[in-house]
Amino acid sequence: MGKRFVSDLLSGQHVRIEGAAPWLAQAQLPENEHAQLAIHVGCAEREPAANELLIYPRSVLVAVSATVPDLANAVRAALHDAGIAVQALACLLASDREMASPALREAALALGVPLRFASTAAEADVSELAQQAVPQLLPPISVGSGIAIAVAGEPLDVQQIGRGRGRLAVIGLGPGAAELMVPAVKAELARANDVLGYETYVRMAGPFRADQVQHCTDNREEMQRARHAFELAAQGRSVVVVSSGDPGVFAMASAVLEALHESSNAAWHAVELEILPGVSASLATAAQAGAPLGHDFCVMSLSDNLKPWDVIENRLDLASQADLALAFYNPISRSRPWQLGRALEIVRQHRTPETPVTLGRDIGRPGQTLRVITLGELTPDQVDMRTMVLIGSSTTCTFPRADGGSWVYTPRWYGVKPSG
Ligand code: SAH
Repeated sequence: MGKRFVSDLLSGQHVRIEGAAPWLAQAQLPENEHAQLAIHVGCAEREPAANELLIYPRSVLVAVSATVPDLANAVRAALHDAGIAVQALACLLASDREMASPALREAALALGVPLRFASTAAEADVSELAQQAVPQLLPPISVGSGIAIAVAGEPLDVQQIGRGRGRLAVIGLGPGAAELMVPAVKAELARANDVLGYETYVRMAGPFRADQVQHCTDNREEMQRARHAFELAAQGRSVVVVSSGDPGVFAMASAVLEALHESSNAAWHAVELEILPGVSASLATAAQAGAPLGHDFCVMSLSDNLKPWDVIENRLDLASQADLALAFYNPISRSRPWQLGRALEIVRQHRTPETPVTLGRDIGRPGQTLRVITLGELTPDQVDMRTMVLIGSSTTCTFPRADGGSWVYTPRWYGVKPSG
């Protein structure tokens, strides 16, 4: 229908324009009030007549309460009863007290329109909500309780109505290589207004558009960064906090949740918060070596910046004794020079010198290196803060690969090898 209409128009036929559409003036259509072809502009629900193209300017706002059952269909029915086309709907508007309501979110999604919020007095009804948020609207038509329809004389600029629900996503970039970043994270970075994180990771997450604001901070200011992220998101912005690997593994997701847990700010709690996973360094390293973490394993950070060293020693002792394969994050740094050596002493009390060890450095990044050695050969000077250390269990084994390196794996079975 639309195609046919446009081809008639392109072939030089004249057209009538019914209704107000100042934006059509620019198109310089061959207008003629007696033309057969007609463009009908308006928000009224209408069956297109022959030779008629309907344009519904998005000039209708529906103010809603989250308490209305089956909200999307209730809005459709209300518009239909009012003789208004659902295509003319520009947005849903709700009270900011209902910002976190899943029902509102689902209704807006089902109707394919943005959801905006405004603040009103607690006792205000949805008609008042609409009137206060958009004074230039015609007086709203209240439809039952919890739905009010308001029509504007021209298309609505939704960005100017109230505000959107802020969004905060804590994302994991994966180890570094773009192809190891999950698609949901890529999409989140594309929609971000603000990107926060340690400078190295923010740079890794880029490049960004000119309209995207980068907030780079020192690696140690985690709680401050988390609170800053909520402040920005509570203004209605789309905010991303960047971690390398997975955000839940010795990274920002916990800090962000702790900041929220400590806060009694309702605007922070109303933010749409999502944690998006990434490929953690232990898994990226393991995959390159084969399957050293193919059976039960234990993940530890050797950093005693945020926990007492004796806790680390105790856990190392118990995990080694339990014959778990071990994955060490933060194995060593300039300010923590002796800890790795001490950790290895503990592990060696329970593991033989032949135990396979995988060292992955800058995995998924330029200049990455992967080495497979034994526990007997491992010394702290082979390791730095960009290295992942994977220590095998008693069943972890290696064999040569055709390209000269070696495969490492920990079998699925334990104790007695199943036959077959
Ligand atoms: N959230 C991150 C870990 C942060 S802790 C993740 O899930 O991967 C930082 C430690 O992770 C580093 O000290 C190093 O041990 C390890 N690491 C992070 N990225 C790495 C990479 N690309 N290659 C090897 N190790 C890495």
